[in-house]
Amino acid sequence: MNASVSPRVKDEIAKVKDHSANNYAPLELVIESAEGAWITDVDGKRYLDCLSAYSATTFGHAYPKFIEVLREQTSKISIASRAVYVEGFGDFAEALAKLAGKDMILAMNTGAEANETAIKIARKWGYRVKGVAEDKAKIIGMEGNFHGRTTTMISLSDDPIARKDYGPFTPGFELVPFNDAEAVRGAIDENTVAVIVEPIQGEAGVAVPDEGYLAKVREITQEHNVLLIVDEVQTGLGRTGTTFRFEADGIEPDLITVAKALGGGILPVSAVIGNKDVLGVLEPGTHGSTFGGNPLAAAIGKAVVDELATGKWQQHSQELHPALFEPIRALLGRGVTDVRGAGLWAGLDIDPKIGTAHDVCEDMLEKGILAKDTRAKTIRLAPPFIVTREEVDFITRTFTEVIDARWQAAQ
Ligand SMILES: *Cc1c(COP(=O)(O)O)cnc(C)c1O
Repeated sequence: MNASVSPRVKDEIAKVKDHSANNYAPLELVIESAEGAWITDVDGKRYLDCLSAYSATTFGHAYPKFIEVLREQTSKISIASRAVYVEGFGDFAEALAKLAGKDMILAMNTGAEANETAIKIARKWGYRVKGVAEDKAKIIGMEGNFHGRTTTMISLSDDPIARKDYGPFTPGFELVPFNDAEAVRGAIDENTVAVIVEPIQGEAGVAVPDEGYLAKVREITQEHNVLLIVDEVQTGLGRTGTTFRFEADGIEPDLITVAKALGGGILPVSAVIGNKDVLGVLEPGTHGSTFGGNPLAAAIGKAVVDELATGKWQQHSQELHPALFEPIRALLGRGVTDVRGAGLWAGLDIDPKIGTAHDVCEDMLEKGILAKDTRAKTIRLAPPFIVTREEVDFITRTFTEVIDARWQAAQ
């Protein structure tokens, strides 16, 4: 911590270090409030938010319509449990299912829970519908995946840091290389019930597979009567310029998981979306969640779906895409070694000669932009939908200044 840090910053950081388990390494700023695309720290300094809470605040902070829904719903009822019907849940379920072109949803809270739920549904479908022998179901995942932090989700992961000391792991998974559809074919056997894939691997550094990859995986899974689960927790709900990323691949998955942006930056809301022939395998008592689909979550989730149903945010992201990507691409070979992404979501690799991604993020923070590194050399830029053209220009101008300065210093 440097010497100029203010007492409020020092106090907060010290308290967190003393009283919260050390499972994160946060950037050294202490936020007090946020509105729209801008965050204010306890010293009154403002930052343009290019992290968007890993796409949980895709609509920006305190989006007025969601705040209105929050006020209205909390004045009626917030939490009820699914032991009763509460008006509004049906509207939310219908709207979200329709947004994905499906029949129904199963509401949960977090992304990891949505994926856990999809795994359970796929297994049950395997036993009930496909006729797989009891406890033999196999699910194929991708190397480099990120589906959450629960014991079963890390059992599906190959990240040594996420797994170390947390075994034994849930059996029934096999990993194949990402972006290799034929490897999926090779791994399918008579017990395979599902393939789970992120259409773009976010935590792996915005890894975009080749065009046609997902379509090929869909074709292979269909051929073998295997469900395709698409994890749209980060890519979904407009982040990549279409409502769901799988639309860009022209496919229809069997199950879709969504979370993050579905909570409108207000609270955690997640869901599995699918058709009756798959989600219909569940019966009362076989799965559930105290908070899943609570009245407040349903009201906010419905408001998020309504925003996306207009298509205006997807269009706005597509329109601003070149403004974000072109200036960054211009830095290729001058401090930036690769640029990937879609919509308002960029992953860029920093040339190790000019420093680490973390160093670059610290320079950006100094200049009023909040961005976070993922892995040693990659930075993700994910501004909220509500950014203006001028704000995108501020991002790219600042990024260019930071990279240019480091590039010149390295010569
Ligand atoms: C963030 C994320 C998850 C986990 O979501 P949580 O709400 O943190 O449990 C799952 N899958 C993907 C692709 C994610 O980006």
